[in-house]
Amino acid sequence: MRSMKNSMIYILGAILLLAGCKEKPKDSTSPEEVAASGPDIKMYVLDGGTVLVNNLELFAQDTTYRGQSAEFADAYYVIVHPEGTLMWDAGLSEQLVGMPEPYTSPDGNFTVSRPDSLVNQLKAIGMAPEDIDFLALSHTHFDHSGHAEALPKATWLVQEAEYNWVLSPVVEAAQPDMFNAVNDIKNVKKIKGDYDVFGDGTVQIKYMPGHTPGHCTLHIQLPEAGDVLLSGDLYHLELNRVNKRVPIFNYDVKQTLESMEAFEAYADSVGARVVLQHSKEDFDKMPKAPEYLK
Ligand SMILES: [Zn+2]
Repeated sequence: MRSMKNSMIYILGAILLLAGCKEKPKDSTSPEEVAASGPDIKMYVLDGGTVLVNNLELFAQDTTYRGQSAEFADAYYVIVHPEGTLMWDAGLSEQLVGMPEPYTSPDGNFTVSRPDSLVNQLKAIGMAPEDIDFLALSHTHFDHSGHAEALPKATWLVQEAEYNWVLSPVVEAAQPDMFNAVNDIKNVKKIKGDYDVFGDGTVQIKYMPGHTPGHCTLHIQLPEAGDVLLSGDLYHLELNRVNKRVPIFNYDVKQTLESMEAFEAYADSVGARVVLQHSKEDFDKMPKAPEYLK
């Protein structure tokens, strides 16, 4: 290995000399190390609120969770890349900030709260809403689209299938809050399938539908922390990942199961650290803004 490395350094040196450049000192970073570290990317984890699930039975097709409840984290993420800044998901509604009591949905299934506003949370990492260039939502349920319309310069990268669904007359009539959370976004780029956000493979939206028609996960290649795969709502609980349980309210069960299979194969192939976005355990393990993963 050493002799191969030495000969590569020699070849590189010869190329640099031919190009009329100065040869680098011997202790400089090797080409292999440059390739391994990749561009300078940071990932911030921000707290978009808490969801108390009062009726966990909704999160399986059978009665496995009858009578159980759970506390879900509701994170959103800011990924700073040399070519731009992406926000992944948008937490719960900012209307919850400062409410004296957490809000319980009329059906009693969920009790939700949010600790702080987007502006304050971004301020803590030296940013403002206008600094976000791209917004991508794992999907458009209420707990992921809270401040989606509060990013004046962002382009919403959205699966065409998700866009057509959430802005359909059916959803507008049945779930107006979900429709209204994204209806006024001006800059929209519709995508179909996987999407490489910055064109260098380091931040990739992975199309994994079923929870909703255009549900996605996100693969980030960090220079030091390595590959991270954010699950969106493919799995809400570790137990659902282990047992391949599908929530009762998913758009398409068969498609969800296919996405679970694709997700696991992909996670294995890239050796990614999988983060279940609603898992409080996973959330607690991540550094929180202003700290970051890089
Ligand atoms: Zn969710």
